[in-house]
Amino acid sequence: MKEAIKQAKKAYALEETPIGCVIVYEGKIISRGYNRRNTDKNPLAHAEITAIRKASRKMGDWRLEGCTMYVTLEPCQMCAGAIVQSRMDRVVIGCMNPKAGCAGSILNLLQMDRFNHQAQITAGVLEEECSSLMKQFFRELREKKKKAKKNSA
Ligand SMILES: [Zn+2]
Repeated sequence: MKEAIKQAKKAYALEETPIGCVIVYEGKIISRGYNRRNTDKNPLAHAEITAIRKASRKMGDWRLEGCTMYVTLEPCQMCAGAIVQSRMDRVVIGCMNPKAGCAGSILNLLQMDRFNHQAQITAGVLEEECSSLMKQFFRELREKKKKAKKNSA
């Protein structure tokens, strides 16, 4: 999770919502990703999607069986869908996202009986560190917006 947090900080440096992710296979990190949605002007540029794409390239297979994803924030519906599609074994989550998460908050796409694949979930790993990064980011964003408003008045 520490490596995923490092990725989240890369997003932070680009003024992106700080979400980071790594995928591990046989004890080794095989791919990394961080949120680049604004930078790339692409709604698909979530940390998890980037990491899944890179991991599949490395494994030479769309199936990521035996892999574990470490992600700083609970995945959204798109990423949870991609995780199921990749047949990922396990997802380790930093903090939950009550407003958009689809690994248990709004729904749990990772563990629906009626899909052909379910992923194990471990949540709350380095939760404090992951959530304080998010809080700090949004606090700074609000301050920046306030300043911008003041300057334009
Ligand atoms: Zn996502």
